[in-house]
Amino acid sequence: MLAVLVVGSAVGLYGHRPLLWLAERRVDPTILLVGWLVLSIGLVVSTLAMIGLLALPMDQHQSSGLFQLVGGCWTAVTKGTLPAWQQTVAGISLIMAAAIVVRLGKAVASRVRSVRRHAPHVEQLRLLAMSSSAGEPLWVPGRRAMALSIGGRPGVIIASDGLRAQLPPAAVAATLEHERAHLRGHHHALVTVAETLAAALPWCPLLRAAPAATRDLVELAADDQAARRCGPEAVQVALHRMTGQPVLPFGLPMASLLTELRISRLRTSDPRAARRLLRWPGAAAMATGALLLPAATMWLGGNVVLCAVT
Ligand SMILES: [Zn+2]
Repeated sequence: MLAVLVVGSAVGLYGHRPLLWLAERRVDPTILLVGWLVLSIGLVVSTLAMIGLLALPMDQHQSSGLFQLVGGCWTAVTKGTLPAWQQTVAGISLIMAAAIVVRLGKAVASRVRSVRRHAPHVEQLRLLAMSSSAGEPLWVPGRRAMALSIGGRPGVIIASDGLRAQLPPAAVAATLEHERAHLRGHHHALVTVAETLAAALPWCPLLRAAPAATRDLVELAADDQAARRCGPEAVQVALHRMTGQPVLPFGLPMASLLTELRISRLRTSDPRAARRLLRWPGAAAMATGALLLPAATMWLGGNVVLCAVT
């Protein structure tokens, strides 16, 4: 139990550092996205599970079965048959678990309110986009070159007439491919998960760093897919011409983040290189590493249940 608590605390405090270190060494963005998301969700689940285990006075239960274990522990706490220090630990654990659940609920409710605020505009765009074929953008009037995707069902790509007018056809195709990659990869949902966890538990350094890292990595991952289908030069041209695109409260635009870094990365790396073959084994290895903490917590919880039922 102590070892799992120490590892859990270390992941929460320092888990972001190895991921940032790997990002500086240009590890594939898909592998890093898997690391950030699995580690963040795993940390929150493990923390709740560990706090729950701390609240259980495990050496007090005499009965069998999970429900009787919980009932026995509850009776032990409420009847005061536990030593005072154990009652204090159980009480603090219950308060901490309730506080985390309440904060998660508040963060989700705030996210839902934000989605509802923009829902009329987004629904209007979705209705208009239904006239376009799947994967094709909804072209809107506007002199400025602009493209963005909005997640959900169905996902929508919005592009301005200025995009077609100002960029060469290959760069337009690369821009649209970048936005399609956001929709295919469910990038909007990944960013939402990272932002919601950070809003709920902002004092955790790992969760606090996750939204910015996720937003950057989804851009790099979408660039890679666009470069693979349309060539890195076309993506570079699109980024050059669209730098400074405004950030909207919804949707992922083509060129609002890290444009200089993305252009230099496209110049120096070949998206068709063999390293792409390592993406899925790398992602699987990253997920396995990130799942060690939740797996250890589940193992510990399983032991408690087994102890109760045997
Ligand atoms: Zn993008």
